[in-house]
Amino acid sequence: MRKLPTMLIGIAGFGITLNTTAQFRCMVMDGGAEAVDEHMAQHASAALRGQDITIPVVMHVIWHTAAENVPDAALVQQLEVLNQDLRRTNPDAVNTPAALLGIAAGSDFQFCFADLDPMGNPTNGITRTYTDTVMFMDTWLGNTHMFHEETGGRDPWDQHHYLNIYVVNRSYFLGTASQPESHGNAHDGVAIDYPEAVGATRTLTHEVGHYLGLDHVFGGTFGLQSCGNDGVDDTPLQTYHYDCPTYPFFSCGNTTIGDLTMNYMDYSYRGCKNMFTQGQVDRMNAHFMQYRASFLGVTGCSFVGTEELATTADGPMLVPNPANGTMQVWFPSRPSAATIRLLDAAGRLSLSQGVANMQAGATIDISPLHAGVYLVQVLDDGIVIGQERLVVH
Ligand SMILES: [Zn+2]
Repeated sequence: MRKLPTMLIGIAGFGITLNTTAQFRCMVMDGGAEAVDEHMAQHASAALRGQDITIPVVMHVIWHTAAENVPDAALVQQLEVLNQDLRRTNPDAVNTPAALLGIAAGSDFQFCFADLDPMGNPTNGITRTYTDTVMFMDTWLGNTHMFHEETGGRDPWDQHHYLNIYVVNRSYFLGTASQPESHGNAHDGVAIDYPEAVGATRTLTHEVGHYLGLDHVFGGTFGLQSCGNDGVDDTPLQTYHYDCPTYPFFSCGNTTIGDLTMNYMDYSYRGCKNMFTQGQVDRMNAHFMQYRASFLGVTGCSFVGTEELATTADGPMLVPNPANGTMQVWFPSRPSAATIRLLDAAGRLSLSQGVANMQAGATIDISPLHAGVYLVQVLDDGIVIGQERLVVH
């Protein structure tokens, strides 16, 4: 009886070793560092601060062997890790050296699986495509065949409204990404090698960092550089790291805060990485506002206009509805705490409130809301357990 768990632990350990020793290889398609005005970056950051920026995600799994057909649970975990890393709610944030806590920062970006496909049909935000392509062969420019049905891939969903993440078996790069200037272009999106979609690899975090405008902390967006400028003020000049030297480690004449080997935009391995800096968050915000602002108007992960989505068999009750001023909400079958969330017609968060006991219900102050149609969602531990449409007049 004792052998089985021991063997499983052994296998798990083997898998982890393999993955952590895979050297990070990454590139940005049609890339090239460009200057971001520091003032504009800080202005954009200030304008966005405290507003959740929700980016709907579709993951396209392009598979030839069963192993490449990465299960939903692993993809859900990827998105969770991405959200934690971008918002600095990652459990290993405690490993950030004390000397860097002043510059470590979380953003207001959050990613969710799309609820509706481009045709308005309900979806779980994951597509699966069998391909005859045994392996997508990377050239130095990467591989774009995955973006096209006729070359063994799958056509992307409208990049103005979805972040397309491809999960494929590819020959060289662990991940590739398009830069913000490519917003809406045919090959706009992120693509990761399929083993990188299993476990907290941080590869998706790194690539989404590029997608939102970040360079490597050692400079540039392609290959190996040293002492390059990443366009961010609070990251020092440094070389690249595949390993995880004890902090502080200095290179490139940096004598101030040490190399940011724990930064998601270095090449260090998964267990080493745990932070972005405030300067990087400012840069992502600036790029988002300049190039990717079409996400501000998405009908996103939760869509108000669809009756079948807005009504659940056993759902929250809203009285009165239509309403203005205040509204009562309760959920008869849920004698537990929950969070009430109101999304406007564009899918943007308008209001969020905790409720101690949903069976007893609560009064929600909706007086700050403009007239219109809203989706009221009840969340238990971050999961939507029911939703109902509300008209505010
Ligand atoms: Zn990279």
